[in-house]
Amino acid sequence: MKTIRNTGTILLLVLICTLLSAQNRETPPVTLEKVSGDVYQLMGGSGSNGGVFIGETGVLVIDSKMNKESVDQTIAAVKEITDKPIKYLVNTHSDGDHIMGNRYFPKSVTFVAHKNCRDDFFKVNFGRESDWGEPELLPFTPSVTFNNNMNLWLGKDKIELHYFGVGHTTGDCVVYFPDEKIAFVGDQYFSGRPQLIHSNKNGNSFEHVKTLTKMLETIDADKFSSGHADLVSRDDIKKHIQSMIERQKKVKGLVGQDKTMEQVLAEFEENEARLVTSIYNEITGK
Ligand SMILES: [Zn+2]
Repeated sequence: MKTIRNTGTILLLVLICTLLSAQNRETPPVTLEKVSGDVYQLMGGSGSNGGVFIGETGVLVIDSKMNKESVDQTIAAVKEITDKPIKYLVNTHSDGDHIMGNRYFPKSVTFVAHKNCRDDFFKVNFGRESDWGEPELLPFTPSVTFNNNMNLWLGKDKIELHYFGVGHTTGDCVVYFPDEKIAFVGDQYFSGRPQLIHSNKNGNSFEHVKTLTKMLETIDADKFSSGHADLVSRDDIKKHIQSMIERQKKVKGLVGQDKTMEQVLAEFEENEARLVTSIYNEITGK
């Protein structure tokens, strides 16, 4: 009996340890990982990966994590590197894991985004009403927006913001550091899983192919940082575009044979279902 109880206790301890380590795995602390010069990837915490640039006269942050703890850790991590104030926060697009933390940054920060991204802040998202229009939250929404491109300056340091078109959503921007040839692309790239297209935000996979192609033609970045993947090269972006084109061709072929959505999905891996559904709906106009 005693042995059984001991075994039970051990099993319980193992379970607790597993749960704790799983929790730790889910939210590792926020860290800054140097990419080159004064450009860092903002990793860990809750929410997507982002970026930090230490400019001559201040700091620019890319995407804002999701909760106060992660924002506090972000601000502390920046303070360990520099005394310069955070001047700009650029939201690459409007998904919660990229914008929810805005409200925990100091009010003195200027929030910047593409105009369509700002519009999305105030729309219903996945059935949830937006609270960004509340007077206490408005100061944390983008107060500077742009249409096609815009430069931000921190003293002599130039940061380029580009909009290359519709894709993951309709308001995805690329933050480009020309001196370092590093681009932060938000969720316009995924690895290990297919590209996510938010049809509910009018994202579109066919447009995304054009958008990423235009990006490669316009900027000569050789490193690309994104929300949910490791740093990648131009070749990786090209492969990502190609994999999307191949899926689109395959879906087109199947639709041409009058296959239903279910029959089309059966021809793909389970983790491709979301993207294939988007592609199918785009082709059939549903
Ligand atoms: Zn996203």
